[in-house]
Amino acid sequence: MLREILALGMGAIVGTTAWSAEQPLSTSGSVRTVKLIALTYDDGPTAVTSRILDVLKTRNAKATFFPIGSKVHEAAAMMRRMASESHAIGNHTINHLRLTEMSPDVARAEIEEANALLTEVTGQRPTVFRPPYAALNDSVRDILRSNGLAIIMWSIYPERLAFSATTVRDRVVENARDGDIVFLHDTSSQAVEATQGIVDELSAKGFEFVTVPELIRRRATFSLGSTYETGCDTAC
Ligand SMILES: [Zn+2]
Repeated sequence: MLREILALGMGAIVGTTAWSAEQPLSTSGSVRTVKLIALTYDDGPTAVTSRILDVLKTRNAKATFFPIGSKVHEAAAMMRRMASESHAIGNHTINHLRLTEMSPDVARAEIEEANALLTEVTGQRPTVFRPPYAALNDSVRDILRSNGLAIIMWSIYPERLAFSATTVRDRVVENARDGDIVFLHDTSSQAVEATQGIVDELSAKGFEFVTVPELIRRRATFSLGSTYETGCDTAC
């Protein structure tokens, strides 16, 4: 799907944010000796989030968090920690509702208020967005594009019908490829143990854990309003 988007997107609006203006790195051999992967965590912040941050910190791994806006103020210190430890923080709306089931004005408010809130609390303006319930339509895409946001889906969803940290870990470790985006939640304690196993095992296999914006910058071309299921374009 991404390849189609990129092919169609040759004339599309190109991002104007600082990182989006950068070109993808050369596809020559030396760059590809490192495999990149992006862990993403939705629906926090919770008590589990700080434990995940601890795991990532001791392993120098970076990740991307998509917090629910209405929970951000009560965990402002943790959100600032996330930013100061160089993780990316994406927009997941204020109230975690289906944007396709509300008026465009209300959907716009959900998105723009989350952007303002996250910028205020963390000092980072989001460049990436994950739609609650994966609900998207053309109107929502237009709002995202006008707010400088790219849509981030995923290529590995290890929690699907999985109830143990071991299963989640194994699904990621067995399926990981360069450029993958992994969909996780920082809402249950299994994510802590799973994260530990994923980072340890994939680091040993030569993977580097990067934020989604960094993954796209190094493996693809950033385009506002485009949808990324992996960080890779045809170069991967
Ligand atoms: Zn969510």
